[in-house]
Amino acid sequence: MLKQSCSANSPTVYIRDARYDDSLNRIIEDLFTLFPRNRKDSLVLVKPNILGPHAPEKGVTTHPAVVKAVIQILKDQGAKVIVGDNPGMGGYGRSQKAAKTCGLLECAGDCYVNLSLNPVRVKVKSDYFQEVTISREVLEADEIINLPKLKTHSLTVLTGAVKNTFGYVVGADKLRLHASCPTPAQFAQGILDIYEIRPPELNIMDAVLAMEGNGPSNGIPVLLGRILASDNAVTLDAAAVHMLGQKPMFIPHLKAAAERGLGTTEPADMNLAGDLKTVEGFRFPRTFVPGLAGLVLNRYLSRWANCVPEILPRRCTACGICAAHCPVKAMSISPTGPVLNRDQCISCYCCQEMCPEDAIKLSGRLLSLLQRR
Ligand code: SF4
Ligand code: SF4
Repeated sequence: MLKQSCSANSPTVYIRDARYDDSLNRIIEDLFTLFPRNRKDSLVLVKPNILGPHAPEKGVTTHPAVVKAVIQILKDQGAKVIVGDNPGMGGYGRSQKAAKTCGLLECAGDCYVNLSLNPVRVKVKSDYFQEVTISREVLEADEIINLPKLKTHSLTVLTGAVKNTFGYVVGADKLRLHASCPTPAQFAQGILDIYEIRPPELNIMDAVLAMEGNGPSNGIPVLLGRILASDNAVTLDAAAVHMLGQKPMFIPHLKAAAERGLGTTEPADMNLAGDLKTVEGFRFPRTFVPGLAGLVLNRYLSRWANCVPEILPRRCTACGICAAHCPVKAMSISPTGPVLNRDQCISCYCCQEMCPEDAIKLSGRLLSLLQRR
């Protein structure tokens, strides 16, 4: 159990037990008092995780109760509030559908904006890409309040506050970035390059109904009953990783973030406002250990260690979504269903993330070996 520490210059991490009921408003109000700011007439972008058209009880998207409580307090403080995200599947209609299914359209009301409508091309300081298309609102907001969901992720292990800023990127440009950063270590750097365009001022993590297993969309919803918050996204994610019984240095983008000096990752260097009690038995993705091995092996050997997608024919409806979201065209659709070109596959798992039928299993030689043992 990690108890409260107090050092004046350390980033603060707020942790409370929470439920999606009337008590949530009080918790959100409470955490806002810990991160005070004059918001009168300022433009605030609230950025939940709206990966795709998933109902709130699936644990994929930020719960509408959290979004609603945040909007209310911002309005009470006199802010001009806009709420939106760029889902995994781009395009106006798909964004609207995702927002509707996850309950965002209803809870955000007239604050909702379709972020895909206002793209702007910006230059980025990155080893992997020079420019990226993001939503103009990201640049124009006086403040960004990031509302990540606590979930596992087959490629990045965890999708929390830092990874949620990848949703600044509009539509198909996300696929281009995956192709530009084809290894997990490169993608970790790419995520940080996007994050650094505009780090959010406040991050409030929905870990009430979280997701374990093979997230971010086809994992298992799990009730953790917590809300965490921090003004530093890296520190918040690191605290969440400790809470789940792991070490941030095993999460590639958090390790890289610490190396860039973007946040502290050890509880001793955080001001813990609350009790970071450890969650026992939380399940990380099947790809976690093979992915770690892939990070330290050379390019050839990492292909042996990494997992690749395997289609489950009984579940597959041949909808073609996996092929449409493969950044390197390693997946194609034949009359009998999807076909994988293993030599081309970069193990980014976008296909598994976007499959609406959970018809893609990730398997590999190292994983089989570990399972046998
Ligand atoms: S996205 Fe899933 S259901 Fe659709 S073709 Fe691919 S594997 Fe089959
Ligand atoms: S087949 Fe799937 S895992 Fe392989 S590159 Fe394409 S989207 Fe990524």
